[in-house]
Amino acid sequence: MKLTIALSKGRIFEETVPLLAAAGIEPAEKPESSRKLIIGTNHPEVQLVIVRASDVPTYVQYGAADLGIAGRDVLIEHGGAGLYQPLDLNIAKCRMMVAVKEGYDYDAAVRQGARLKIATKYPQIAREHFAKKGVHVDIIKLYGSMELAPLVGLADAIVDLVSTGGTLRANKLVAVEHIIDISSRLVVNQAALKLKYDAIQPVLDAFAGAVPA
Ligand code: ATP
Ligand code: MG
Repeated sequence: MKLTIALSKGRIFEETVPLLAAAGIEPAEKPESSRKLIIGTNHPEVQLVIVRASDVPTYVQYGAADLGIAGRDVLIEHGGAGLYQPLDLNIAKCRMMVAVKEGYDYDAAVRQGARLKIATKYPQIAREHFAKKGVHVDIIKLYGSMELAPLVGLADAIVDLVSTGGTLRANKLVAVEHIIDISSRLVVNQAALKLKYDAIQPVLDAFAGAVPA
């Protein structure tokens, strides 16, 4: 029974290698040094497909991959349809934050009921956050380099992932609000979980036993 696991390059792949190892799965190649999008493993029945981080839920939703690993940020934006999310893997940890230009009085703007322009790659998370606060916002969808937006007047604030804060500091931005903690989760195609239970359950168990503290 073939098992296909969707992963993204970079931190998720790197941090997933030990989890795969716990399940007895060793990738035949590193995606960073290979141009292959389908990577075999020591296990003849298990293959990895390398996709954009934000595409992982889509591959799993439609059953093109049985399993995948995706950030909570990506899963919220996707909506989770067709996905079973049995396990928080506690990897690729960071925080979703609101950040503004140094010197911008965010609290005053909020207090005064100003309509804020928010640049983000995460419109769902941003919309929900400001709706809860009762703040009116115009969401400007970006695909990267969010930090630039407040500096050039595209936005009053950004909603973005922060880990060390180094990128914010380098661009003279400050985090003013913590929205949610982010980590990556295992996602499973709902139909595959039933049809391929015998192949999937041992992988789930091995991952669960290897989740970092
Ligand atoms: P791309 O870089 O191709 O535009 P991406 O930014 O979504 O896509 P990654 O940078 O590999 O891809 O991030 C993958 C996941 O890792 C994110 O969805 C998020 O959950 C998490 N992540 C992102 N940035 C950080 C960070 N600085 N520290 C820890 N985890 C992070
Ligand atoms: Mg990135």
